[in-house]
Amino acid sequence: MPAKILDGRVLAKELKEQLRQEVVGLKEKTGAVPRMINVMIGETHGACAYANSQKRIAEQIGICYELANLAQDISQEDLIAYVRKLNDDESVNGIMIHKPIPGHIDYRKVANCLDVAKDVEGINATNVGKMLLGETEMIPCTPAAVMEHIKSTGMDVRGKEVVIVGASEIVGKPLSLLFLRQMATVSVCHIATSEAGRLDEHLARADILVVAVGKAELIKGDKIKDGAIVVDVGINQLGDKMVGDVCFKSASQKASYITPVPGGVGPVTVVMLMRNGIEAYKMQKGIKS
Ligand code: NDP
Repeated sequence: MPAKILDGRVLAKELKEQLRQEVVGLKEKTGAVPRMINVMIGETHGACAYANSQKRIAEQIGICYELANLAQDISQEDLIAYVRKLNDDESVNGIMIHKPIPGHIDYRKVANCLDVAKDVEGINATNVGKMLLGETEMIPCTPAAVMEHIKSTGMDVRGKEVVIVGASEIVGKPLSLLFLRQMATVSVCHIATSEAGRLDEHLARADILVVAVGKAELIKGDKIKDGAIVVDVGINQLGDKMVGDVCFKSASQKASYITPVPGGVGPVTVVMLMRNGIEAYKMQKGIKS
């Protein structure tokens, strides 16, 4: 039987409505709404498209969203000084550092200057560490979106074999911690797994397979376990088409659930960013979740 589609647009709509209602409640309680600033250095077409979608979704939820456009050649010191000013500004509740950033900027240094309480992407080293300990609500947005998709299937993750292909700091690694927290058995595969010729054996036992590699249709359906839940994080341009890291056509014949690309993880990711903005606001105002 073909897989059920995990439609990110439908899920995002439901989550947005929940957040919208929460913001209405916060406005009644505090007289204000969360305010988030996206710091963009220079301008690239892709980055702008993503920022536009953040802005649209923030507006739908009722969050105040602003884009701070800084010059492409801003120095590291000036950028850090700018971020510190936002840290000190009590009217700002959430700060994002928009990627890509120019090569002369040390991303980690900037990330570590962010006020931990305003770091809505969960990139400051303190929040990364707190995530390991389960002590922060600032979960990186894409891993959080993957978990929302899994939750929507109703599957109990406890004791399941989860295989994550891709071990990046923004997706694979934090995601492995989220699954571990839910008592799954987690394997994280990367380039060395493939080079050792061992990727297929991991794929074959995955009850849940998440792929975040950035290589068009790397994973074909014949490698996937029957009935697996497949979440495809990848975004790749193949000719004039956008495709994921999983071959959707063949994988949807084997999986029980599958996310499409586009329209799977992406739409939910932006909503997770807004959820973090709301959590940051509540923390700063001393409002319990
Ligand atoms: P990175 O390039 O940072 O990481 C890719 C990971 O895949 C690395 O761990 C790399 O291993 C591994 N890898 C590369 N080739 C192979 C292979 N043949 N077999 C196994 N592992 C391999 O990418 P990101 O995590 O930033 O992004 C991954 C994809 O997800 C991209 O397409 C990106 O556009 C998309 N994305 C989508 C988001 C969304 O919200 N929908 C958000 C973020 C990303 P190694 O480092 O060892 O080489």
